[in-house]
Amino acid sequence: MMMLFSGCAITEAEKGVSVNPYEKVDWSTFTQHKAALHVHTLQSDGYHMLDEVVEAYRDAGFTILAISDHDWNRPNARVTWGHISKGMASPYPKDPKPHNYPANPTWPWPDYGGPKPEAVGMLGIQANELTFRHHINSYFSDYGVWYERTGSGAPYGGIVDEEGHEIWEDDQLNGINEKGGLAILNHPGIPDEHSWWERKSLDWYVERYQNHSPDYLIGIEVTNASSEYEKYDEGLWDQLLARFMPRRPIWGFGTDDMHSLDGHRDSYTVFIVDEFTKEAVREAMIRGQFYFCKSSRRIDLREDDISVFPVINMIEVDEDTGTITITASYYNKIKWISAPETLETLEDYKTSDQPWSLGKVVHEGETLDFRNKSNITNYVRAELIRVDGDEIYRTFTNPFGIGKLN
Ligand SMILES: [Zn+2]
Ligand SMILES: [Zn+2]
Repeated sequence: MMMLFSGCAITEAEKGVSVNPYEKVDWSTFTQHKAALHVHTLQSDGYHMLDEVVEAYRDAGFTILAISDHDWNRPNARVTWGHISKGMASPYPKDPKPHNYPANPTWPWPDYGGPKPEAVGMLGIQANELTFRHHINSYFSDYGVWYERTGSGAPYGGIVDEEGHEIWEDDQLNGINEKGGLAILNHPGIPDEHSWWERKSLDWYVERYQNHSPDYLIGIEVTNASSEYEKYDEGLWDQLLARFMPRRPIWGFGTDDMHSLDGHRDSYTVFIVDEFTKEAVREAMIRGQFYFCKSSRRIDLREDDISVFPVINMIEVDEDTGTITITASYYNKIKWISAPETLETLEDYKTSDQPWSLGKVVHEGETLDFRNKSNITNYVRAELIRVDGDEIYRTFTNPFGIGKLN
């Protein structure tokens, strides 16, 4: 069993914010950038050419885009599977193929018929979705290895390297680190009934975040395109934060896992940076200097306006008064959430879509008086909520670590 870093032993007067992901932000000068960090194209099992995808996101107001095609799909998987006609096939990548084809990232964009990101006012991030085991998004590196499947059963019946050694997620994470990349674990709650997916236990996630440094295993997808298992993913995040904060942050990401431009739920990440550069965005990813959004509404990115989400204008942490205050627009309420009531697994994680207790709501309102709230433990995070008819639009901050003031 892991030792819990619990706030219980800390007196109220000693309680302070030991991790503030927005610490370096000057809210009056930094700019906010919408980012799509999990996007597929015809280069794996998506339905669209790269240039069409770039245009759709750009027109929808996104300025940061990571094309994260699967490492296990050869290009034009949808053509191979008969979902779209041969005439729609992508001719990329042209010869000579990338060194790790067909597990290569769709990068740089011009090699795949896309524009240079800067030519369309965007920042492109080299990415890859490692798919042979638990899905892992890799950023800022060309890591990707093609494996032949070696057996049956999910996922892919096991993979081995040239010498016959089994390859596991830890090997892949180490590989990303060796190439200077960053990684997040994707959509944990995808149901087990898919032949290509196997849910993992909470202990499995705890081991990964213990074994790998926050310098490169930076976080987890908390919102993905689906709503069916969103409580699974959110509950898992809170369970992990309860175990790891404040000493080991696990940042939350929102993505739409786009394969087809129609019918996805809005979910994206917003970076807050002083300069619109790759270095600044990378730093923000490591520091948690972003927030993320998720709607219940399905949209066609090419035709509909993307949803109006709560927008965060400022977050102030005041150690003197012991408060965190959020200034925002387009919201009805702000909920503050801390560790779940229980850290036990309550139902079978293989079959239940809510096997864990979700984080506990400890306060509602713009200002949280963290020092005088005894129900706050080792972290707190905020959710801003806007309700419009039947639809719910939510914006999530990253977690603040609560600990002893030194
Ligand atoms: Zn995936
Ligand atoms: Zn994906």
